[in-house]
Amino acid sequence: MILRTHYSGEIRPEMDGSEVTLAGHVHEIRDLGGICFLVLRDREGLAQVTVLTKRADRKLVETVRGVSRESVVLVRGRVKAEPKAPNGFEILPEAVEVLSRADSPLPLDPTGKVGAELDTRLDARFLDLRRPASMAVFKIESAVMRSLRNTFYEKGFIEVCTPKIVATATEGGTALFPISYFEREAFLNQSPQLYKQILMATGLDRVFEIGPIFRAEEHDTRRHLNEAISVDVEVSYADHEDVMSLLENAVSSAYRYVSEICEKELQILGVDLDIPKTPFRRITYTEALEMASESGRKSMEWGDDIDTETEHYLGSLIGEHYFLTDWPSSVKPYYTQPYEDKPEICKGFDLMHPSMELASGAQRVHDYELLISRIKEKGLNPESFEFYLKPFRYGMPPHAGWGLGLARLVQTMLGLENIRDAVLFPRDRRRLVP
Ligand code: ATP
Ligand code: MG
Repeated sequence: MILRTHYSGEIRPEMDGSEVTLAGHVHEIRDLGGICFLVLRDREGLAQVTVLTKRADRKLVETVRGVSRESVVLVRGRVKAEPKAPNGFEILPEAVEVLSRADSPLPLDPTGKVGAELDTRLDARFLDLRRPASMAVFKIESAVMRSLRNTFYEKGFIEVCTPKIVATATEGGTALFPISYFEREAFLNQSPQLYKQILMATGLDRVFEIGPIFRAEEHDTRRHLNEAISVDVEVSYADHEDVMSLLENAVSSAYRYVSEICEKELQILGVDLDIPKTPFRRITYTEALEMASESGRKSMEWGDDIDTETEHYLGSLIGEHYFLTDWPSSVKPYYTQPYEDKPEICKGFDLMHPSMELASGAQRVHDYELLISRIKEKGLNPESFEFYLKPFRYGMPPHAGWGLGLARLVQTMLGLENIRDAVLFPRDRRRLVP
């Protein structure tokens, strides 16, 4: 295979004189006559390749002068310490090979000198991702996933994969994508909720999954997509408090990990990360309603879901991550455990960033009879949940869990305006390609 010996980011001025082979895209060519600069871009940054056109091999000079921007090249040469060059070094090439020629004009300028709208960038995402700022987001996202996995493995979790083609809705019929193929109704799964609960009946005890969820959302917003990655956990012998503490630690650790290993990427994005301090503030639903009504804004009735406007108001008041707890049982799904002494409120919670919801979770109902009556109260038919309900009849430990939106976590961490910036190939009503 083609031998790249170094990434640009691994080269130091102290390596003066050593031979290296770099590979990447042609970021820019500057031909000044007697001297010609080819700036090569790879995953780790830029390297200036300097050709003294009078002295260098004629074929090499022709190759460098003739190569189009964004072509893929292999450059073998010597490192020369050069204080005037970016990062303090340049490469004096002995051989330049064009491995793949790029057409022109380019659909998008990956150097970022010419700005582009989000739609244009997403249409030419492969080029957009060559922009260091776009690429940085996904290096950070990878670090976030790695940190979350580290947290889970440290705490004895088992990673699982549940089906994405399912026969029933998780919570009733809205926001579902039907699939026409099977002899019966089938859908893309909205959430691994029912399956991770079924797994609690197996004795696996602590599971997590990082996988896609599908939602036929009604609205086009800056925080909803039709396909999203959800970080899901379910824990046996745990209550809502236990999993809230797991969640705040997982989020805070992800921030810390990113701040430790993604310094360069944060700098490219101009983000100064504040690691959220644990424990996060807990605010009950009722307190939230009081805070909102004190503002003299339109008042909400106890039992209403908290709307986006109120969410924003609370966020601006609180200014940091917080939990919304003790929701009315009528607002949260049937699988949420009501308080034994006060069944009109339940052990469900949301994790909020000041700008949006990041996660929802709860202690779950594990009692079969209670679960049946909760399903009926929600106007759903227990018969369509047969496969889910059965495990509750044969020994189901008490359990709790949550689902956290990966893209929203990254979006809020980096202060990105739109969730689409935190997803490689976002899916929404208007976008199925690329
Ligand atoms: P919202 O009220 O913001 O639409 P939700 O309460 O419907 O979210 P949940 O069912 O609680 O969402 O899903 C758990 C988490 O998954 C959410 O907190 C969010 O981070 C993420 N999520 C849910 N739906 C979407 C979506 N359409 N696009 C991106 N992320 C989503
Ligand atoms: Mg929610």
